[in-house]
Order: sequence, then C-alpha cells, then structure tokens
Amino acid sequence: MEETTNKLSDQSSNILSKESEARLEALLTSIGEGLIATDERGIITRVNRVALLTLGLKKSDVLGKRYREVMVDVYEDGSRVPNVNLPITRAFLSGNTVNDHLFCLRSDQTIFPISVCVSPIMLHGKPVGAIQLFRDISDDVITDNIKADFMSIASHQLRTPLSAINTYAHLINDGYGGPLTADSKIFLDVILSAAYRMNELIDTLLNITRVESGSLMVDPAPVNLKNLVKHIVEEIKHSAEEKNIDLKIKFGRRIPIVNTDSLLVQEVLANLLSNAIKYTGDGGSVLVTLTSRSTDVLFKVKDNGYGVPADSQKYIFKKFFRASNITSKEPNGTGLGLYLISMIAEALDGEVWFQSKVNQGSTFYFSLPHKGSNKKDGKFKLQRVGK
Ligand code: ADP
Repeated sequence: MEETTNKLSDQSSNILSKESEARLEALLTSIGEGLIATDERGIITRVNRVALLTLGLKKSDVLGKRYREVMVDVYEDGSRVPNVNLPITRAFLSGNTVNDHLFCLRSDQTIFPISVCVSPIMLHGKPVGAIQLFRDISDDVITDNIKADFMSIASHQLRTPLSAINTYAHLINDGYGGPLTADSKIFLDVILSAAYRMNELIDTLLNITRVESGSLMVDPAPVNLKNLVKHIVEEIKHSAEEKNIDLKIKFGRRIPIVNTDSLLVQEVLANLLSNAIKYTGDGGSVLVTLTSRSTDVLFKVKDNGYGVPADSQKYIFKKFFRASNITSKEPNGTGLGLYLISMIAEALDGEVWFQSKVNQGSTFYFSLPHKGSNKKDGKFKLQRVGK
C-alpha cells in the first residue's frame, strides 16, 4: 500500500516538474531575444529558440557545451574577443549586469553585430552562472547608416544653394548690382541673417549625426584653457554688445594646461555662452568663470536672464526641447544645442549640468578632468557651428 502511494507521488511530482519545465520552456521561447544561460564553469545549461535561430544551431549543438565553443564573440575585424573581455566573463567576475555591443561569428562563418546584456545568477551572494540576452542588430546598424547618409547628403544639398544665396546677397549688399535703396538694405540684412541661421542649423544637424553615429574624433593636445575662454568671449562679444549685456571673464588661480580637444571644448563653451546671451534680457549680465578644483577644471557661465522653469529642467538636455518661458521671447532656436554639447562633454570625459531659477537666471557648468580627455579615433571631426 505504502509502495503504491510512493509511486503515485513520484508520478505526480514527475508530471509537475514536466509541467513546470514546459512552462519555463514556453517562457524562454516567448522572449524576443536570444537567451543563453551557463553554470559557473561556463557550461551552457539553457538556450531558447531565438538564440538557436540567430546562431544557426540546433539545441543538441549547444546544451552541455562550453560557452566559447558555441558563441564566438568577435570584434568587427573578425578577431576573437579575449576571454577576460567577454561580457559573460565580466558579468560573472564583477557580479554586475554588463551591457555591450560586439560581433558574433555564425556557424556559416558570417559576422553580425549584436547587442548583449549579461546578468550573473547569484546564490547566497556568489555568482553560480550567468544569463546572456542578445539580439542581432544588423537592421539597426543598416538603418543608422542610412540615416547618417541621408543627413549628410541632405545637409550637403542644402548647403550648396545656400552658399549661392549668401554669396549673391553679399555682392548685392556691397553694391555690385547697382545702388541700393535704404529699404533694399534692410531686406538684404534679413536675407543674410536668415541664411546665416540656416547654415548654423545645417552645421548642428551634421554634428549631431556625427556624434550620434559614435564616430566623432577626439584628438587631445595640450590646451591653454584661459586663452581658449578669451578667444570664445572675443568671438561672441558683439552679440552681447547688441543687447547691452555686461559680459565678463574671471579666472581662478593656477589653471593647468589640460590635454583635451580644443575644438570640442570651444563648441561646448560657445554654445553655453551664446545661450546665456540669447536668454538674458537687454542690459543683463553674463559672467564666465574658469577655476581649477581638486581633480578637474570647471567652466561656469552665469547669467541673470529668463531662467528655466522648474518643471522644464529635467528635459533641458533632450533633443528639440525648448522651455515654454522663452519660446515667445526668443522664437529662433532648435533645442539641439544642449543635446549636442552634453554628448560632446561626455566624449571629452567631462560633464555639463546647470542650476536655474525662472526670472532670476541660470548657471551652466562644464567640467573637464585634469588628467584630460581620452583619444578617440572617430571617422569625423566636429564642424564648429557657424565657422
Ligand atoms: P535652443 O537655444 O536652440 O533652443 P538649446 O538646446 O541650446 O537650444 O537649449 C534648449 C533650451 O534650454 C532652450 O530653448 C531654453 O529653453 C533653455 N536654455 C538653455 N540655456 C538657457 C539659459 N542660459 N537661460 C535660460 N534658458 C536656457
């Protein structure tokens, strides 16, 4: 009797474990990304259907095999990613989730780009395996390339007719088309400043494409930051004068020479400074300060202008965002400048942030580490906007 009861309970627990196994299998299959789970020795214990389809393998090729035998992580040139640099090893050793982009060699020897997210499986505070989710991002890469090509072709096609408008408007303005009436001069000024703004917009769009494609070149060299600040202020001071804005510079003591990319730093500062002038009313004041702190140098651009409303502050570095308090006062703007410079600051290993009170003013900060910016071999150099 007891034996029969035991048999029955064995059978029902078998049915139950088959049921929960089937549920788990269904769950893994329904994940839209490839999944590979390993134990602490790197032996594959689970794989889902998407992973098999993506790698072009059968379940029997994968289960019980070592991760490295199955999933060949490579760099773009096809060379293998060393064991220590594999996301799965890094996640296992650090106990943290690791996100990365790399390439994978399929069983048919084709290479494709993947995005990877690996989490360690922790038991009593110790990693006992890892789960890797991965996705073939070939389509995303192609779409990004098409977008980048489109942007650069579109910008180029816009710039060519624009430079004709610019050149001929200047010729007329300089009297080469005959004498001008006072009204014609006013109309020409409008054409020229519109053409200038359009040129700036094209530069900004192109720069955003470059930075977003991750191919921006960072080319560090020793930079005298005091001279750089003076240069940018000199460049921009005419727009402060037009609004009677008191524009001043203040330097702290012992500003070190920093190994960074002068062109990129100039772009960040020029943007912060032109915003400070643009968003400050006539007769206001703007102060640029450069100081050295324990591990970095700090640029501060402080104005007593319109400020940023509290509920807009978290969006200020988002693409195309413009706060509602300034759109009627200053209709010209795209909401792209701060987005662009926050990415440039990151590329320079620096940071941008701000404090602001509406109708009292804003202070924008830009820090750069004393140890300088790391070199990045990008395909593109930044174009200084409007230069
Ligand atoms: P744009 O100036 O072309 O609108 P930005 O990206 O440079 O684009 O700025 C985004 C928004 O941030 C601005 O539209 C404005 O609302 C706000 N902003 C930036 N700088 C300042 C500033 N110094 N004072 C007040 N608001 C600012």
